[in-house]
Amino acid sequence: MANYDVIIIGSGPGGYVAAIRAAQLGLKTACVEGRETLGGTCLNVGCIPSKALLHATHQLHEAEHNFAKMGLKGKSPSVDWKQMIAYKDEVIGQNTKGIEFLFKKNKVDWLKGWGSIPEAGKVKVGDEVHDAKNIIIATGSEASSLPGVEVDEKIVVTSTGALELAKIPKKMVVIGAGVIGLEMGSVYARLGTEVTVVEYLDAITPGMDREVQKQFQKILAKQGLNFILGAAVQGVETTKTKAKVTYKLKKDDSEEVLDADVVLVATGRKPYTDGLGLDALGVEMTDRGQIKTDDHWQTNVKGIYAIGDAIAGPMLAHKAEDEGMAAAETIAGKHGHVNYGVIPGVVYTHPEVATVGQTEEQVKESGRAYKIGKFSFMGNGRAKAMFAADGFVKLIADKETDRILGAHIIGPAAGDLIHEVCVSMEFGASAEDLAMTCHAHPTFSEAVREAALACGDGAIHM
Ligand code: FAD
Repeated sequence: MANYDVIIIGSGPGGYVAAIRAAQLGLKTACVEGRETLGGTCLNVGCIPSKALLHATHQLHEAEHNFAKMGLKGKSPSVDWKQMIAYKDEVIGQNTKGIEFLFKKNKVDWLKGWGSIPEAGKVKVGDEVHDAKNIIIATGSEASSLPGVEVDEKIVVTSTGALELAKIPKKMVVIGAGVIGLEMGSVYARLGTEVTVVEYLDAITPGMDREVQKQFQKILAKQGLNFILGAAVQGVETTKTKAKVTYKLKKDDSEEVLDADVVLVATGRKPYTDGLGLDALGVEMTDRGQIKTDDHWQTNVKGIYAIGDAIAGPMLAHKAEDEGMAAAETIAGKHGHVNYGVIPGVVYTHPEVATVGQTEEQVKESGRAYKIGKFSFMGNGRAKAMFAADGFVKLIADKETDRILGAHIIGPAAGDLIHEVCVSMEFGASAEDLAMTCHAHPTFSEAVREAALACGDGAIHM
């Protein structure tokens, strides 16, 4: 048993970042993690492994589709699936070990095991009860289930099973056209799997700017993904090696069946707070199972804070990280801050999709007068040279003040490009500010500047 200023439960991007920041600010800090490795969903079964498989399969796509065009001839690489999985696992290992190193460097104690809160100010791990002046709950989330669909992580899988299938399936049905479904669907489509995505709503990537949704769907369809939209999955039946997915089309109630070797259930995630003892403590929850917090990430029980996927807001690693830093700073008596209006969202397909701020539909609905600056990557020399000219940058600015309200990018390196708009928005910049900033040539980022120019007197290369 030990005394701590702060104990964090969960070592995902929310928890480990909170722990490091708390320790940097001079607080005696421990982090409880029940998994065998640190890093949470993100490093073990989320962001990092999915990006490793996206990277590997994108290289395959380049070799198969673009190498010959550039005069790079020879046999296309063949896929050694076991080795690809081993590479992904190696990447996970490097990253999780990295957090272990950072804990040691910053003198954060890793309390190994599953934690609970028997009373405010105490955290129990195994048989040990530790005192903690402050507790941060960062227990993350788990995949949501779907009625009539039983997950076995072999034939019917969540993203976790999809990251380590025993072999590459011939046919895959993805239930849900959100970020995780489309990323994993892209991975397998590039590996030769026939992928069909079934989505309840009438558009993919719910909540995104409508124009981006349409273009994104067109591009993915060109890459071989099939889409069935407006379809409610009724159930999945499995045999030893196959599955049948039954869905009902909303437009006419007709029922259809799809065969698959693997079904990926990607219908979202829900907060994970099992075993913490929150009921007994009287910690208030939302009706969506999230822990309720005030503006400073404190729950209704003094000294107990919560961050990341376990609370409201976008379920994203960087949102969890920002809250982790801010909660630790608040506990240390500083002014922790998160600007929820400027949290980017990225889909790491090829092309990437990135978005920040309001969509055109949201601005329209708010009644605010606005203008749009749009620039196609067809006008970007670098993108053309790299066979990556599909897509565009769309910037939305206030009509009167020219202040940037949102940006939506589909195109090469969109996930990196979005950040110059994020920084601009943080500083309250106008589209003209962005347009007047010199951008190096030839870079993809020139497309962002051109979109900003298009908000004013016009883009040059269009
Ligand atoms: P988590 O990362 O879920 O970590 C919580 C940790 O708490 C877990 O390790 C768990 O074992 C531990 N824990 C839970 N209860 C206890 C307990 N009682 N005692 C001890 N330990 C406990 N987000 C992005 O921003 N970019 C991406 O590209 C991206 N890709 C994703 C891909 C996939 C396939 C998935 C599933 C998610 C992806 N996400 C991505 C989402 C991202 O992983 C989450 O938003 C992020 O991990 C949330 O961080 P967190 O710290 O709140 O919780």
